[in-house]
Amino acid sequence: MAKGLSRKQEQPKTVKLRVPRGRKVAKALSPEPVQQRVERSGERIRKQEQQKTVNLGVPRDRKASKVSSREQVQENAGRWRRQGQRIGYTSGVFDLLHAGHLDYLAEARRHCDRLVVGVNSDRSVRANKGPSRPIVPEAERAALVAGLKPVDAVFIFDELNNNANIEILKPQLYIKAGDYDAARLSSAPLVRAYGGEVLLIPVKHAVSTSERIETVIARCHARAERLPAGEPRPAIFLDRDGVICEEVDFLHEPEKLRLTPHCAQGLKLLLESRYRLVVVTNQAGIGLGYYTHEDFFSVNRAMFRALKDDGIFFDRIYYCPHNEADNCRCRKPRPGMLERALEELPILAAGSWIIGDRESDIEAGAALGFPGVRINRTPEPSRARLRAGNLLEAARAILDLR
Ligand SMILES: [Mg+2]
Ligand SMILES: [Zn+2]
Repeated sequence: MAKGLSRKQEQPKTVKLRVPRGRKVAKALSPEPVQQRVERSGERIRKQEQQKTVNLGVPRDRKASKVSSREQVQENAGRWRRQGQRIGYTSGVFDLLHAGHLDYLAEARRHCDRLVVGVNSDRSVRANKGPSRPIVPEAERAALVAGLKPVDAVFIFDELNNNANIEILKPQLYIKAGDYDAARLSSAPLVRAYGGEVLLIPVKHAVSTSERIETVIARCHARAERLPAGEPRPAIFLDRDGVICEEVDFLHEPEKLRLTPHCAQGLKLLLESRYRLVVVTNQAGIGLGYYTHEDFFSVNRAMFRALKDDGIFFDRIYYCPHNEADNCRCRKPRPGMLERALEELPILAAGSWIIGDRESDIEAGAALGFPGVRINRTPEPSRARLRAGNLLEAARAILDLR
């Protein structure tokens, strides 16, 4: 990258303005060996890259004054206190910021001169709310909260409660959102011990981040249901792991995907015979927190890539992200995913089959009266109508019975 170009394009304006003119000139005049100059420019680009990832579009010095370490905030709070200012402290996750957050912080700020906000680290959010949260990483959540007018200082903390924060900051006012009474707050005695007060601000906004997430999921489903319908045809319901791709414990890395032997040939034969292909797969690893929905999608994309040259496409992929303990309707051997497919896709129930490598696949089909093909080399007893060594054998066996 050209030296002049990179300076112009990547250096934040606030920094550029503060570069003293004299230094720039002196640098340009100093005779430097070429190699050294190249290294320096590389170093500068690296520094700029680092700045970019931390900056998040917030001008550097404004951000530095608002988001900092707990120790830095403690220092500032001490100064404010000596100036006779009343410090309020509150904390939260602030994942997917909404108007309720803003109302709450504005109300909190009305009770103090300086509002300090602790933002839960990603690690502590996962510990509190499960592996699918937060949606927004801690640095971004902190930067967004710092961008709100009522907020004077922000730090990120790792503990699961506020005891350490209160001990360190000793705010005159400890502010909590919620309906629970101050007496029951575990940290209340801690605050009162140094003469502080606890203030509870009732939550006015009904919408929570969790509800927002559920709305997004529901709308995605609604969109999928509006897809144009085709002519009704029998379907082959396919398990994914152990049938289309080789069974790997909790498969979630796309590079570990391997198609089973003759998989593409078998699927091609079924498509040419005018079956709809519908994948129904249990993905308990999501519910257990071993991997994310996004990991699951990335394995699917690897599967599409591997099958694309053979012209293979699937009508729909249904997956159950729950684990056994969730007791959902979709986890096989329960037939919830197949029922949904029958509601949402133009499928002729008569002539449809399920192909699986486990008895739970066969049972999910049997619950709705679909015959099954069990792909498995171990000869354990099965309710399956047919047995096969791989997908091609399964496809041929199904077509033989038509
Ligand atoms: Mg399987
Ligand atoms: Zn489920």
